[in-house]
Amino acid sequence: AIEVRDLFKRFGPLEVLKGVSLTARQGDVIAIIGGSGSGKSTFLRCINMLELPSAGSVTVHGEEIALRDDGHHGLRPANRRQIERIRSQLAMVFQSFNLWQHMTVLQNVIEVPIHVLGMKRDEAVSIAEKILRRVGLHEKQDAYPAFMSGGQQQRAAIARALAVQPLAMLFDEPTSALDPELVGEVLSVIGDLARERRTMILVTHEMKFAREVASHVIFLDNGIIEEQGPPEQVFGDPKSERLKKFISSIH
Ligand code: ATP
Ligand code: MG
Repeated sequence: AIEVRDLFKRFGPLEVLKGVSLTARQGDVIAIIGGSGSGKSTFLRCINMLELPSAGSVTVHGEEIALRDDGHHGLRPANRRQIERIRSQLAMVFQSFNLWQHMTVLQNVIEVPIHVLGMKRDEAVSIAEKILRRVGLHEKQDAYPAFMSGGQQQRAAIARALAVQPLAMLFDEPTSALDPELVGEVLSVIGDLARERRTMILVTHEMKFAREVASHVIFLDNGIIEEQGPPEQVFGDPKSERLKKFISSIH
């Protein structure tokens, strides 16, 4: 499980997260929704410490990520190797794919398993081939990202994330950079992962999809959780005026 407790994040005078907590148990699909600038990406980046929180804690599988306060710059990692290890277990998929452009799809997928996790090349390749088949990219394994569509690139990025056999996957608006006709193929891969009961935290603007696949929905507004609950409740029977307004603004 992932436990986030009372997370705060400030950028100078700007307070972006003001005490956000979340629990993701094995198999949970947590969708995070909210307006632009509400702190969704910052929250996701704090969970895997791409961004260091100003206060609060993140616990992954019972192990709290050790941070220490140096009294000047806020929290710092107390243990570099622990952060690297935990971060590698929380695989992130970004809006902009972030594939390594000078590597083929296969090389992108086997890079971390071989060079970070110490897997043998043959084994990494055979796992990568299975994963690429699952995301429908078997025939693209020797292609370079620049020669693929956005939907293919994003599916390759998902394959790369899967290849580390992560405890959980973090998605930050994985379809919002795609042409509309390519959104479906990526959502269908993410939907399959949700149905396999992989633990996922997903920031998305795709409300219909969130309603279908999420086990829990969090509405983030101005750095706090304004409302949360099962998708039927959050989308079908919102209580907060701000959530009602948000939902009506996107339909
Ligand atoms: P969007 O839906 O547009 O992606 P978001 O909910 O993901 O928005 P964040 O990217 O988390 O929002 O940003 C929240 C606030 O924090 C914004 O006001 C943003 O300008 C600010 N912010 C984010 N990253 C930084 C940073 N590195 N330095 C300073 N301010 C930042
Ligand atoms: Mg964002």
